[in-house]
Amino acid sequence: MTNIAGQTRDETQSIHCPKCAAMMEKVAFGGITVDRCLNCKGLWFDAREQERLRDMPGSEQIDTGQIGATAASARPTTSLHCPVCHTPMILMTDHRQPHLKYESCTVCYGAFFDAGEFRDYKEHTLVESLRHMFRGRQK
Ligand SMILES: [Zn+2]
Ligand SMILES: [Zn+2]
Repeated sequence: MTNIAGQTRDETQSIHCPKCAAMMEKVAFGGITVDRCLNCKGLWFDAREQERLRDMPGSEQIDTGQIGATAASARPTTSLHCPVCHTPMILMTDHRQPHLKYESCTVCYGAFFDAGEFRDYKEHTLVESLRHMFRGRQK
């Protein structure tokens, strides 16, 4: 489980927040290490880590920031640059959660979530999967 496609960076290296340029700290959960900004509490996920963490019970605890602390309107108008490979990132939307926007790197597949967004991303998915289970049982 060490060779994930697109994940080429040295995990021990500290990165800077793509949004506010503050240092990010390492936060480990369930064998996955993500980076959390010391200033704005935004979260950086390497390739697909957000999807793997989303499915782990209790993983919302890595997201300690308050949602709305950084409103979408407060986003800089220029694109954020990937803290790993410095490529300009694109704004992504989860098709199940059109209100939720996050930045993603098209080269290394890393993703940046503002404080509170990962909890939002995860909660919605849990509700959806329970709904699917319920529907499945009715058949
Ligand atoms: Zn930050
Ligand atoms: Zn990148």
